[in-house]
Amino acid sequence: MDLNTFFKVGYGMYIISSKLGDKYNGQIANAVMQVSSDPPLFTAGINNNNLTCKYIKDTGYFSVSVLSEESDMKFIGKFGFKSGKNIDKFLDTEYIISDTKIPVITENTVAYLVCKLINTVDVGTHCVFIGEAIEAKVLNDKTPLTYKYYREVLRGKSPKTAPTFIKTNKHVNEIKQKESKMSKYECTVCGYVYDPAEGDPENGIKAGTAFEDLPDDWVCPDCGVGKEDFEKLED
Ligand code: FE
Repeated sequence: MDLNTFFKVGYGMYIISSKLGDKYNGQIANAVMQVSSDPPLFTAGINNNNLTCKYIKDTGYFSVSVLSEESDMKFIGKFGFKSGKNIDKFLDTEYIISDTKIPVITENTVAYLVCKLINTVDVGTHCVFIGEAIEAKVLNDKTPLTYKYYREVLRGKSPKTAPTFIKTNKHVNEIKQKESKMSKYECTVCGYVYDPAEGDPENGIKAGTAFEDLPDDWVCPDCGVGKEDFEKLED
């Protein structure tokens, strides 16, 4: 089976948000689609381990923000690679509260929906939420971000909890740590560790390249933020 086939399936890029009590959380999702028009039903696939999954089950509502192509990787990284268990993603993000009291991210957003949960299907690693759109609004005329654009232009990857994550040799090799006198650096957005002993061969960086010698336009191969968002790891 050719797993690259899976990347030929088209998706958009969204932030799904919900709440639990007075706590808000949201996360990037690509598995969102409309499945009927009368009533207008949408599905959203969310990893069972993610905080947003728990929040939607508890509250019975979720919002879908359709992201703009102008979204930068730091913004996507915050919602796609960081957990609401560790940070408050809404602290420095533009959002509104819908009539249902559910938060809706409006930053880098083209349009949004608020859905009332109708049904939930547990598919093992993920839950598929089926919701009826009860609010819908277009915010601007910007171009919606597609998953293809995210991967090919923004050079974004899938976090391990995404339905589209595919394990590559690189992930397997990450387990094998090599000795090196040069320091490793960790991405503060997604946790990727740059190991000079490994380099970043997929992006043309040879093994043995010090972090300091990486080109200025080098970006985190997992979430796409620049070198300035890396911190040196203590040896
Ligand atoms: Fe990163």
